[in-house]
Amino acid sequence: MDNPARDHQTRHDGPRDQREATLRGALGKCPNCGEGRMFIGYLKTVPECAVCGEKLGLYRAADGPAFFTITIVMLLLIPLIWLSWALFSTEPFTLMLFLCGVTTVITLVLLRLVKGIFVAFLWAHDERDRGA
Ligand SMILES: [Zn+2]
Repeated sequence: MDNPARDHQTRHDGPRDQREATLRGALGKCPNCGEGRMFIGYLKTVPECAVCGEKLGLYRAADGPAFFTITIVMLLLIPLIWLSWALFSTEPFTLMLFLCGVTTVITLVLLRLVKGIFVAFLWAHDERDRGA
């Protein structure tokens, strides 16, 4: 059972700065101190920050970052297809291979960036996993 009184004690005093937190998250840093690392490896969130001890593992992004990344990549892909067709006017197969490579790179870079921002956003609003 969640005890609201006890839960309140573990919170930080004052509202959390969303802008600062998401900026730190975008850099893959702990949204609380900005020094500890948010990820182990590529996408796994650390259970708690090694520097300040903030329990980052409580903020579960689930498939939110994937959803936003897919949406952003799709929106980028539309002008990219048109532009690469207009500039290179190569064989459609070559163009397809080129776009597959570009899309993969953009997705992998964006996914980590978006997840960092997403977890930091959850942290800023104290939206932790309550086991629902
Ligand atoms: Zn920290």
